[in-house]
Amino acid sequence: MTPQDRIQYLRDQLHYHNYKYYVEANPEISDSEYDRLMQELIDLERQYPELITPDSPTQRVGERPTGGFETVIHTVPMMSLDNTYSETDLREFDARVRRFLKGQPAEYVVELKIDGVAVTLKYEQGRFVQGATRGDGTRGDDITQNLRTIRAIPLKLTEPVNIEVRGEVYYPRDAFAALNHQREEEGLPTFANPRNTAAGTLKMLDSKVVASRPLSIFCYAVANTSDFTTHYEVLERLKLLGFKVNPHYKRCATIDEVIAYANIWREKRHQLNYDTDGMVVKVNDLRQQAALGSTAKSPRWAIAYKFPAETAITQIESIALQVGRLGTITPVANCTPVFLAGTTVKRASLHNEDEIQRKDIRERDWVEIEKAGEIIPQVVRVLVDRRPPDSQPFIFPTHCPVCKSKLVKTEGEVAIRCVNVECPAQIKERIVHFAQRRAMNIEGLGVMLVDQLVEKGLIKNVADLYYLKLEDLITLERMGQKSSQNLLESLENSKSNPISRLIFGLGIRFVGQKAAQTLATQFKSIPALQQASIEDLQEIPDIGSVMAGSIVEFFQNEQNQRLIQRLGAAGVSLSDPDDEADPQPQIFAGKTIVLTGTLASFTRAQAAQQIEERGGRVSSSVSKKTDFVLAGENPGSKYDKAIKLGIPILSEAEFLEMLNTN
Ligand code: NAD
Repeated sequence: MTPQDRIQYLRDQLHYHNYKYYVEANPEISDSEYDRLMQELIDLERQYPELITPDSPTQRVGERPTGGFETVIHTVPMMSLDNTYSETDLREFDARVRRFLKGQPAEYVVELKIDGVAVTLKYEQGRFVQGATRGDGTRGDDITQNLRTIRAIPLKLTEPVNIEVRGEVYYPRDAFAALNHQREEEGLPTFANPRNTAAGTLKMLDSKVVASRPLSIFCYAVANTSDFTTHYEVLERLKLLGFKVNPHYKRCATIDEVIAYANIWREKRHQLNYDTDGMVVKVNDLRQQAALGSTAKSPRWAIAYKFPAETAITQIESIALQVGRLGTITPVANCTPVFLAGTTVKRASLHNEDEIQRKDIRERDWVEIEKAGEIIPQVVRVLVDRRPPDSQPFIFPTHCPVCKSKLVKTEGEVAIRCVNVECPAQIKERIVHFAQRRAMNIEGLGVMLVDQLVEKGLIKNVADLYYLKLEDLITLERMGQKSSQNLLESLENSKSNPISRLIFGLGIRFVGQKAAQTLATQFKSIPALQQASIEDLQEIPDIGSVMAGSIVEFFQNEQNQRLIQRLGAAGVSLSDPDDEADPQPQIFAGKTIVLTGTLASFTRAQAAQQIEERGGRVSSSVSKKTDFVLAGENPGSKYDKAIKLGIPILSEAEFLEMLNTN
């Protein structure tokens, strides 16, 4: 391959991966792999400068505006950063800066590099007026509505200034883990890592979904620095204006100090609740910054010193298929145990068939694995040169490994499913889901016992649990008289659970714990829920068309109808006790109320329940039909809209007072 061909190849690859990363927020390769390709291109272009073209990925910021949003022109471009993984390069950067400044004293500010999505926020007279993505550096997407839902972005500053601020939106790690947990429960595919989830969320066209995701931001720069003398001063001023600035930054007089500070964070960053991928080193003096200037793509006065991704090399011993509660087949690699970022890893996710084919992952392959967003390890690449000579491509089974029925791939979905509802693997998963603490909370009914019960043919579905007899149970391994009696007792106790637990436990696709609670509050009984049409369900806030369709489909299925009948016949409560004996005064009868901001005494769901119990309806958006807006701390755009439309605003104190008056 000539250098020319190689350069073309690398450019094509980088353009493709930019598209996957920035536009689809669904990258196929890891950042370190991407950086390796980019470094090779930079090196080749340095060797053959005559081959550099203005559209080379080395010359421009990689993202394109997405479409679906208005375009915003950045009057001050939003740049990328040069980056390096090596201390030698960092020292070279320092030498370059000092050479250029001809011996003037220079100091740096070192900050954490937040692994999120760059945005710009424009304020006029202290009011947030527009927010946009970086896009290609000069043109980005107008995502003002979505940014308004982020609580850490002030809608009003402490002073009425005109200012444009740059920052990084991120998805907190704990919230990301919770989101994936919820999606798993609802039978939805999980997200790969917090950064892509933040990027994908910001580009959603429905701000309501964005509002339901707890994105946050750290601000680190202003577009126009003419009122300041140092970068440090900028950061301090941003804090005073009400912006969230990451607290971990430091002024350093020498590059050795910079390196020492970076080394502290190399380990300590794992304790943070957000992802960081390195440190950003910036020349502090703004006049010096201006003198150093920028290339087309990045400033010469800053560099990102990236932390290498934590990876490990291991061998795949076998590839196994897991069957989920809803029949989704997930391939998993069983690996030789290896220590990685704090834990011993034995398994890595292979996601789906496409992923296995694309990376050509085979049994007995040596692979590099990486923790994605520090959560599930995944295979970054195969070390092809260590592949055993007799290796064969992995052929994805056509039949379920458990029930042997033919697997099905639905048009437009990557997942492959076992559609046999009687598949023992699914039966087991469904029963385990039903029995778990957050559902019916049947103590003593663990995975091992469920395995035995299903394998011995004692149960086929969750209703069968309630027909188990003492003599069935004591014949099982590790089940004496006492533990069998205890299990029967827990089953008996679970019969009087509130129906929200039952609805969640039934495992209806897309219905998580929160939706189950909403459905229970709304319908109060399973028979009433069974009668609900798609339209009835869609009228309920937070129940979308997909979930509504899935609920109706579940209850239309005859097998499920029989299941509910048998649960009822066994004495499982299908309705919540009527609390009409002591009804709340209907002070909100016929009123539509919108909630915004954080309340001190209630979660939003609790406040909504209080309103609904008193005859009111909670809506998610403000319109002329809204009767009140209940505003907590840091209210969002709904507050502004209410003011504009002249809708009465209730403070939390006023609301509490209303609740307490009969
Ligand atoms: P970058 O993310 O490496 O660095 C620039 C960005 O850092 C800035 O735009 C800003 O958003 C952010 N940043 C975070 N904290 C900051 C702080 N304290 N101060 C200033 N800026 C801060 O560069 P990039 O051009 O946005 O993206 C390139 C990188 O993205 C690549 O190096 C690669 O890691 C990743 N990428 C990966 C793929 C893939 O397929 N995996 C594709 C494209 C890009």
